[in-house]
Amino acid sequence: MTGVASGLGLGTEAGPEVGAGEVNGVVDLLTDVLPAERIRLDRPALTAHRHDRSGWAPDGLPSAVVFPESAEEVAAILRAADAARVPVVTRGAGTGLSGAATATDGEIVLSTARLDRVLELSPDDEIAVVEPGVIPADLDRAAAAHGLGYAPDPGSVEICTVGGTIATNAGGLRCAKYGVTRESVLGLDVVLADGRRIQTGRRTVKGVTGYDLTSLFIGSEGTLGVVVGATLRLLPRPASTSTIAAFFDDVEGAAQAVARIRTHRIRPAVAELLDAATLAAIDTAEATGFAGRGGALLIVQTDGAGAAAEADAALSAIRPGTTDIATTADPAEAAELLRARRLALPALEKLGRVLIEDIAVPRSRLAEAIRAVSATADRHGVRVATLAHAADGNLHPIFVLDDVPPNAPVPAPVWTAAAEVFRTALRLGGTLTGEHGVGLLKRQWVAEEVGDVSLAVQYQIKQALDPHGILNPGKALGMAAHRR
Ligand SMILES: Cc1cc2nc3c(=O)[nH]c(=O)nc-3n(C[C@H](O)[C@H](O)[C@H](O)COP(=O)(O)OP(=O)(O)OC[C@H]3O[C@@H](n4cnc5c(N)ncnc54)[C@H](O)[C@@H]3O)c2cc1C
Repeated sequence: MTGVASGLGLGTEAGPEVGAGEVNGVVDLLTDVLPAERIRLDRPALTAHRHDRSGWAPDGLPSAVVFPESAEEVAAILRAADAARVPVVTRGAGTGLSGAATATDGEIVLSTARLDRVLELSPDDEIAVVEPGVIPADLDRAAAAHGLGYAPDPGSVEICTVGGTIATNAGGLRCAKYGVTRESVLGLDVVLADGRRIQTGRRTVKGVTGYDLTSLFIGSEGTLGVVVGATLRLLPRPASTSTIAAFFDDVEGAAQAVARIRTHRIRPAVAELLDAATLAAIDTAEATGFAGRGGALLIVQTDGAGAAAEADAALSAIRPGTTDIATTADPAEAAELLRARRLALPALEKLGRVLIEDIAVPRSRLAEAIRAVSATADRHGVRVATLAHAADGNLHPIFVLDDVPPNAPVPAPVWTAAAEVFRTALRLGGTLTGEHGVGLLKRQWVAEEVGDVSLAVQYQIKQALDPHGILNPGKALGMAAHRR
């Protein structure tokens, strides 16, 4: 599906410094609102900003990449783009896994890389006010100085942006106890498609005035507005943690242990499951020795004042069927284990091209879903590695595409297997995407999950907020029958 803009006189990969923007007049539009050094038109910049981490890249190149440094500049860019009907793709760090930040011919990429200040950190109110380009792990470290923390921690916590996590309503490892990004967002500062600015929500813990527009923008994948500021909830840092690494013969054994934790009414902060293929990939990439200890790993962390007692209770729920089990209260050892978990995706990416999926099922159906994914992969002869935010019922089946070059289309059997996985999720009462979003890659299945009436309402909301359709066109919304 990849390609390079042709026929536009863009020169070679390394230059010259002329981009498609020169061709379609986008440059004039931008130079009126931004200094020249913050408008990139060169091919390396355009190429670097056309794809995300999904492994999918569109044909063509965006016209320009712009780097605003204030909300006012974002507003000026959108006002001009809306008037000229030029599409704008907002981009955080481009770590998204659904193609949502990809950009193609005629589009402007609006990078939030220079909107990266923590504007306020209030220990008394336990909130932070930040610009969208702040990295979540940096915010968490800044909050730690006050005994506080920022809960959302996707595997990409060190490399993604707060804006990207809000726009995808990202999950992560600690969702089991602290919920997804939505639970940590009190209010937003958003620039609308026509350049108007709107403040949603509040800086109080409670507040119900008006419709909940904060929630509307969360997870909207840059299609309803550009988040230029966020008021975020901070939480007291847990006094202690206890972390369990439990190995099982197979992934189903691990999934059953997760079910037992739940029936013991224990709520861990983290419950991450990795299958044999994932453990082997981490071992190869990081010289760890996980695979020798079992065919699946379950990492469980309890936290807070009662962490040790809760871990003891969790241990008795987990222990049956383990091949190896270890526990630690040492934060450094626990951090090392979670670091290995965060390296799972990069390790799998080293095996070749991957198609990363992200279904969620009701917690009680986790083992069933894992069984179905593996049966699907076997039936279609495709290689799959599965990791899961197990306590949330959120699975990432990762299809590893053997011998498929970077630019070649995903082979049909892999898409067929992926479609079967989505339908399995729906059949089990789950969803197409637990946390990565619809982006471009899942649009064709959205109507099956939400239904045509809901989809029509969503198009009406989009129409109301972005009547000229300039914000991240074609992303996030599913395709209703009448729009196909
Ligand atoms: C190794 C790895 C591990 C990951 N682990 C997880 C995980 O555990 N949980 C999880 O949920 N995700 C995970 N992800 C996916 C990804 O990191 C997250 O979805 C993250 O939230 C994307 O942030 P970003 O800044 O890179 O956004 P981008 O990829 O740049 O953009 C994502 C979407 O947000 C929009 N957007 C970005 N900024 C703004 C803004 N300021 N205003 C409006 N729209 C905006 C974009 O237009 C696009 O639609 C992982 C990715 C990687 C590479």
